Amino acid sequence: MVSGRNHLKNVCVIGAGPAGLVAARELRKEGHEVVVLEQNHEVGGQWLYDPNVEGEDPLGRNNFLKVHSSIYESLRLTSPREIMGFTDFPFLIKKGRDMRRFPNHRELLLYLQDFCDKFGLREMIRFNTRVDHVGMLDYGVIDKEFKWLVRSKEKNNDQKVVEEVYDAVVVATGHYSKPRLPSIKGIGTWKRKQMHSHIYRSPEPFRNEVVVVVGNSLSGQDISMELVEVAKEVHLSARSSNISEGLSKVISKHQNLHLHPQIDNLQEDGEVVFVDDSSIVADTVLYCTGYSYAFPFLDTKGIVVVDDDRVGPLYEHTFPPSLAPSLSFVGIPRKIIGFPFFESQAKWIAQLLSGKRTLPSWDEMMKSINEFYHSRDVAGIPKYNTHDIADFEYCEKYGDYIGFPHLEEWRKELCLSTLKNADVNLETYRDSWDDDEMLQEALQSPHFTQLGIED
Ligand SMILES: Cc1cc2nc3c(=O)[nH]c(=O)nc-3n(C[C@H](O)[C@H](O)[C@H](O)COP(=O)(O)OP(=O)(O)OC[C@H]3O[C@@H](n4cnc5c(N)ncnc54)[C@H](O)[C@@H]3O)c2cc1C
Repeated sequence: MVSGRNHLKNVCVIGAGPAGLVAARELRKEGHEVVVLEQNHEVGGQWLYDPNVEGEDPLGRNNFLKVHSSIYESLRLTSPREIMGFTDFPFLIKKGRDMRRFPNHRELLLYLQDFCDKFGLREMIRFNTRVDHVGMLDYGVIDKEFKWLVRSKEKNNDQKVVEEVYDAVVVATGHYSKPRLPSIKGIGTWKRKQMHSHIYRSPEPFRNEVVVVVGNSLSGQDISMELVEVAKEVHLSARSSNISEGLSKVISKHQNLHLHPQIDNLQEDGEVVFVDDSSIVADTVLYCTGYSYAFPFLDTKGIVVVDDDRVGPLYEHTFPPSLAPSLSFVGIPRKIIGFPFFESQAKWIAQLLSGKRTLPSWDEMMKSINEFYHSRDVAGIPKYNTHDIADFEYCEKYGDYIGFPHLEEWRKELCLSTLKNADVNLETYRDSWDDDEMLQEALQSPHFTQLGIED
């Protein structure tokens, strides 16, 4: 069914990271009028590295953060480049750039900039524009279609406030900025340095220090590995002693890297006490404890809430049943191959807004959400992991709603082989691997040959 012009909407996309960029492209492709509001001066989202973290609360407790990107200077991708690209725009190796399979963060920014140029996306983006309020107009008024009021401010000029009305809003603001902090006795009164990895940029400021790194996730491991080179001692506090083979190897290699259980409390004199009653005196506590979902600008009158990191209710992690499709979220799921998934979300939103497709009834969407919550509860998955998908089949089922192609076998296999390699060879997995055969298959697939030969 082809939609008529009267189905086309005036849509505001918030955020020009990977999710917002692909959303804007798909919405425009469908014929909608699109404005992207982006608080930063450039596209890229997390991949727009920001060395200037002065002025940010070290624990990121402000409602609106000053710094968006949590990327540190040395960061190299944890996923191989070939699995990352949007379906019609492979993340190719370019001469004169970082040609590695797991390149530095700058290379991904360049890829996103190339994506913008290729599809002419910049003209839709209003930079240095921070959204501070999104609210409903005429919600619940009988016989009136409700709209969205979006209020934004020019960055560094609080006086310049702009209010606009849109038919629909797509939230693509990311979720790797707002620090998630553990509750530890003494965290509020600790007098020495403490910070979240959100503002960690490089190891140099920790030279000769005794540092406690809390959390052995990807960032916790990466940061510990570079800190051991300059710090006097690094104490890694992990939730479980059941750590990966790769991390065990790193710990046994470095005499100044020690593994501890969780912290019990922090003492005002600098003592850090662990739950096994051991303790050390530290200069700094660095929390690599992950990030929380936060939408400080969004006022849905309580219809969409963030409860212990569950954003809900959201049908298929995308649509609040009472407000869909005029309000949608792109990029909420974690532990997926991100970019193609964002692309499938964007296509679905665009086609729902144009009326080409329809959502199930409110009752059916709520039933699906509640069944999903129940299945997670039964599986013992904590609420704060609601959006951790880690399931290719889910992504494929999601794509089926709009006839989006399934993930190629090579994408799945290269993702799994990388996870396995990282688990065993934490220090070297970005430079040495044994999935070359599958890699060659990938590089000869239509995904990589679709644009013709590049430089
Ligand atoms: C340390 C680290 C390492 C990572 N490594 C990988 C990796 O190797 N591979 C991988 O696939 N992913 C990785 N990620 C995940 C990464 O976040 C995603 O790849 C991707 O950036 C998510 O895209 P997004 O568009 O959803 O969000 P973001 O990239 O966060 O973009 C959101 C955009 O919204 C803008 N914005 C936010 N609030 C407002 C507002 N109020 N008004 C206007 N604009 C606003 C921001 O400025 C930003 O430009 C990593 C993340 C981190 C933090």
